[in-house]
Amino acid sequence: MTALMIHGGAGTFPEESREPALAGCHRAFAHAQALLEDGRSAVDVVEAAVMLLEDDPVFDAGHGSYPDTEGRARMDAIIVDGATLDFGAVACIGNVAHPVSVARRVWEATDHCLLVGNDATTFAHAQGFPCVPDEALLAQGEKPSGQGTVGAVALDAAGHVAAATSTGGTRGRLAGRVGDSPLIGCGAIAEDGVGAVSATGHGEPMMKLMISRLVLEHLRAGLTAEEAATRAITHLEWRFGGEGGLICVDASGRIGHAHNTEHMPHHGRSADDLHVTGLTDRG
Ligand code: ASP
Repeated sequence: MTALMIHGGAGTFPEESREPALAGCHRAFAHAQALLEDGRSAVDVVEAAVMLLEDDPVFDAGHGSYPDTEGRARMDAIIVDGATLDFGAVACIGNVAHPVSVARRVWEATDHCLLVGNDATTFAHAQGFPCVPDEALLAQGEKPSGQGTVGAVALDAAGHVAAATSTGGTRGRLAGRVGDSPLIGCGAIAEDGVGAVSATGHGEPMMKLMISRLVLEHLRAGLTAEEAATRAITHLEWRFGGEGGLICVDASGRIGHAHNTEHMPHHGRSADDLHVTGLTDRG
């Protein structure tokens, strides 16, 4: 009994990037689904899915990141293990292709949960992650602000859940700004027996609400995955007028998603083999 869902960011995707964004989600889903069927752990699966999405320049994560006010690619990422509640995260990291893998290394190779800024970049390079120049990471041309943060949630065959989120940040953000994505309970959360959540959207209101934690508590209280995601997005809109999206999986492999933006490319499969995919259906 396994389940998997991925997203490619909540926002407005212009006509020309809609098909590539959906295709990118399908590719990442297919790759991660194969790993899940091979018996790999939920943590491995969400990392692998997010790495592929970070490689795809249609998304605002890894390659394709929006510049900050200094013209640099500075990225945030988190990965969470529902079995232990361990997580690793990086914020304002530069010059790496896969912030999600550096986040995992923070958790696995240090006693810490979150590293930031130049020190996070130095850590990554010291750990053997190759140095990637800003020009290779930055979004090319007039990439519109259809936000393309990426994320994944999974339930593996052993009953463990995991979540990961990675972003190149919001367009025009102040240098040094950290969004919701690398913050536990905001950009992602996971807990065995309850579920896993990945969030995307305008980070400031989402972190005020600790929106991923909110979804998790809705799941704990017995809401379905779809209801939990929808209720949290409704709350975000009501309380702050915030815009965003969520994906989640519960402990029995039901999947849910919601967004109040025009688009949120996503692809998922529940434990009872229900496939959900699309760009525009609104939760
Ligand atoms: N939540 C991300 C941030 O505020 C952006 C996004 O999801 O599109 O950095």
